[in-house]
Amino acid sequence: MCKIAEVIVDIANSEVDRVFDYLALSDTIIGQRVRVPFGKRYIDGYVTNLKDTSAVDDNALKSIQSSIDDYPVLLPEHLELAQFMMNKYHLRFIDCLRLFVPSQLRSKHMQPLYIRYVRVIEDYNMEEYLLKIRSNATKQRDLILYLLPGAEYVQAELNKLFGITNVNKLINSGVLTQFEKQKLRKPTINNFDDKNITLNSQQLEIVNSVSTCNDSSTHLVFGVTGSGKTEVYMNIIQKVLQTDKNAILLVPEISLTPQVMGVFTSRFGDQIALLHSGLSDGERFDEWQRIRLGEVRIVIGARSAIFAPVNNLGVIIIDEEHDPSYKSESNPRYTTHDVAKFRCIYNNCPLVLGSATPSLDSFNRAKSGEFILHTLTQRANKQPMPTMQIVNMCDEVRNGNNSIFSNTLLNKLNNCISSGNQAILFLNRRGYSSYVICRECGYVAKCEDCDVSLVYHKEDGLLKCHYCNKRYKALTQCPECGSENIRMGSSGTQRIVSELQNVFPDIPIFRLDVDTTKTKDSLNNMLKNFAENSPSILVGTQMIAKGHDFPNVTLVGVLDADMSLHFSDFRAVERTFQLITQVSGRAGRGEKQGEVILQTYTPRHYIYHYIKDYNYSGFFDREVNLRETTNFPPFAKIIRILITGENESLAKDISGQIFKDLQPLKQEFPRDFVYFAGMRSPVSKIQNKFRYQILMRFKLDNEQEIVNRIYEIVDKHNNPKLQIFVEQNPANMS
Ligand code: ADP
Ligand code: ZN
Ligand code: ZN
Repeated sequence: MCKIAEVIVDIANSEVDRVFDYLALSDTIIGQRVRVPFGKRYIDGYVTNLKDTSAVDDNALKSIQSSIDDYPVLLPEHLELAQFMMNKYHLRFIDCLRLFVPSQLRSKHMQPLYIRYVRVIEDYNMEEYLLKIRSNATKQRDLILYLLPGAEYVQAELNKLFGITNVNKLINSGVLTQFEKQKLRKPTINNFDDKNITLNSQQLEIVNSVSTCNDSSTHLVFGVTGSGKTEVYMNIIQKVLQTDKNAILLVPEISLTPQVMGVFTSRFGDQIALLHSGLSDGERFDEWQRIRLGEVRIVIGARSAIFAPVNNLGVIIIDEEHDPSYKSESNPRYTTHDVAKFRCIYNNCPLVLGSATPSLDSFNRAKSGEFILHTLTQRANKQPMPTMQIVNMCDEVRNGNNSIFSNTLLNKLNNCISSGNQAILFLNRRGYSSYVICRECGYVAKCEDCDVSLVYHKEDGLLKCHYCNKRYKALTQCPECGSENIRMGSSGTQRIVSELQNVFPDIPIFRLDVDTTKTKDSLNNMLKNFAENSPSILVGTQMIAKGHDFPNVTLVGVLDADMSLHFSDFRAVERTFQLITQVSGRAGRGEKQGEVILQTYTPRHYIYHYIKDYNYSGFFDREVNLRETTNFPPFAKIIRILITGENESLAKDISGQIFKDLQPLKQEFPRDFVYFAGMRSPVSKIQNKFRYQILMRFKLDNEQEIVNRIYEIVDKHNNPKLQIFVEQNPANMS
């Protein structure tokens, strides 16, 4: 028997982020939570290993005080995954472990739900008892006749049937004995009619290819919106269940609609655990227990469901794989794809990525043969894709139309409504910053050095580049055409709804954005309301882009298609392509043909050339080419070292020191580095913490070596008064 346990304590502090040896208890197991003496206190920790000997003298070793649970909360797989994540992302061990355990468990406020049961005492002689009760106690008599020896009854249900006094009487007379059993709470989901679907040949090919691959290869399912990807996932999962293995399906939180959940529940019933933000703490905790105990076979959830304690995985599926939410952008920072890949290799099972607009990175890997590419070229309903029309908003302004709606869009809306159909109007708004555009000629202010759009900073009235921090005076006049019609803000959903109400006073108009859908219920109710009210119009932000399937929607209007095109993010064009394609995909999903109106101030931007023909491949080729020649990901890596702290001079000083220490690295790899600079962050202070950053961009030939060296250098400057993060290809550069 091993008598030494390696334990990591549950304290997020780099100083103690390592295992300590303790004397194990007789029943200590790897992965278990334990309470250990630590300094002058007792602290919770996790057993990461058991061994026979310690480098520390036995007499100097303290003993584990007690075990917290009688089961391991971490799988052996989790411990290896933590190692992988620590190395890859330079995270603390404990921060990784915390990802694997529900916060409800750690907070200790979580009480399991117990239900009280009763059963007849063994060998009790019922006949004898029947003789003893009064002749007019008919309810008691009924109760006794009802009870079967050996059977267990929920006490509350017996109370309901026979009255609480009668049940208590039998308990007090020693006929019935009481006991408790834990009940796992379960969210209720409405079933949807499960259609009987025969897969088409393209769908079949994918299901077969994935189910017959006996390795951990990655499959990219590239299928237009409405091509039946969900149906493919369900069939893959079905096959996995037949081989006695289990599955994880990840979807962006926003697409975890009752519709999607209902479709899966009606096919797979109780075999599913759902993890989404709408669960109560109790439900979330119990779903985790259910997964751990192997009571469910399929886990469906948003990003963090990738850590679910599923044993014996047979497949991991990531739907809408391009979605930015799969990247965790705050501590601990990680990419879901990497974690999924690790788990697939560990379990020797395939990874399936699906999207109508794969990320450039994934599609690039598929084209190079690293991923297996599968294509669904047609909508499952055999309808053509919605037609797209691009409207030049500069023309509208020149013709005296200063409203948010072009005349074309208003006409189409009129037609749509009068034929009893539904429309979705999409406002492409993200974040708080906005780009600067001339409303007459479509000129967009860009950085001279970086070719990315400048961001207007209201507080100091300047335009700034979020990549190099170069500053420019705010524009009062367009440098191209001289017009003073410069737009620096954005119009909100609220304003759009009120203008629409003037035009269509008699039809319901729904507004869907973060403000109107604070709770999961309000979102679901609104979607349900919209589905049941035709004709009507739904106005919304990014939240309406995904997952929804409304057969009566024939018109989609994108009010400001360029909005995200000019964000100061090197992925801005890629993201815009994905977003517009997704939103457009909401039209024409039923029997009726759909159409899309794109309003833009920059109609000649190359993106529209590809968007209007659903030409993802053409777009991909062009964009990838651009990334390659300008040395941006996936052909280079961007690293940002973010140094934040309340003491400004310290943050500045340390960032200066790190910058200096990195210089030799740059000199050692002169051909790799294409950018290297230190500066104050574009948002210089958040929550009273000053922010400094070092930005690097380098080619990939010596990627791992350079990244490791950066970690080493950063580690030397660990400082309890500062937080220092190393981010890889961050989406948010503010
Ligand atoms: P995607 O996820 O690719 O956007 P969905 O899986 O939501 O597409 O499918 C769109 C619609 O087509 C759904 O209503 C689905 O039930 C239906 N569908 C999927 N596959 C088939 C098929 N082989 N035959 C008929 N209908 C199908
Ligand atoms: Zn202009
Ligand atoms: Zn710049």
